[in-house]
Amino acid sequence: MFTIEKSGEILHVNGIFMAKCTISVPGTSITVYSFNIDGVLIDTGARSLHEQFQPFFEQADFDQIMLTHFHEDHTGNAASLQQYREIPTFIHRMSTHLTERSARLPMYRQAFWGQPEVFTSQPLGQSFVSRNDTWEVIETPGHTKDHMSFYNRDRGAIFTGDLFVTPKVKVVHIDENIVSTLDSLKKVLTYDFEHMYCCHAGYVKDAKKWIQLKVDYLEEIEGKILAFSKQGKEINEITAELFPTPYPIIAASNTEWSPVHIVRNFLNRG
Ligand SMILES: [Zn+2]
Repeated sequence: MFTIEKSGEILHVNGIFMAKCTISVPGTSITVYSFNIDGVLIDTGARSLHEQFQPFFEQADFDQIMLTHFHEDHTGNAASLQQYREIPTFIHRMSTHLTERSARLPMYRQAFWGQPEVFTSQPLGQSFVSRNDTWEVIETPGHTKDHMSFYNRDRGAIFTGDLFVTPKVKVVHIDENIVSTLDSLKKVLTYDFEHMYCCHAGYVKDAKKWIQLKVDYLEEIEGKILAFSKQGKEINEITAELFPTPYPIIAASNTEWSPVHIVRNFLNRG
């Protein structure tokens, strides 16, 4: 059995209170953030990191929870937060019914992130208000169909869940539609902001520059995929050519995470 290591820390950045918790297994380490701003908690981290998030939850001041999407590393502690007091919890309307039944997760995800308990949720509207601020809810599908970003114009800030994560993405989950991700990245670039808060990268300064970098990278990858395809190359050949590194997650997830999903999505559009 491999060893799992966990750590957690609490940070204050630009008046935003946040938890940064990391889970590591040999060869892989993933950091997850939860954010607290103006009485709102944005995403709740993974249940497997509950102990690491707990000091943050105890110090955080919030009366509503906003979830960017229905993935266990974002919804994992919603149930325990609802246990002691009623906290309205919001998610995309297509996922409210999912929070109230036990999610069936593949073994590797259950082992890594823990099995989330059920919780009650309400549908996000197009906007919401917190104690002092008004927020815009932006549909940003791609990573998942139900993915939302939360935009605070007055603070020049956007909370992007798993839309960004890394500019040069190499593997995606089978449910991700990278074509939609690219559209969503372009969509958020039409908004005016400086600061991005990503659930895996944390605070990202000069946010638009980084998002543009991901847009440029994905467009370049798309161009290469379509050029290879024109030469008669098959999906697996193109994948091997463009993404030769055998990241451990590919085998560990039985290719649920793989670069082939990036190639397939772009080929299907082209
Ligand atoms: Zn996710």
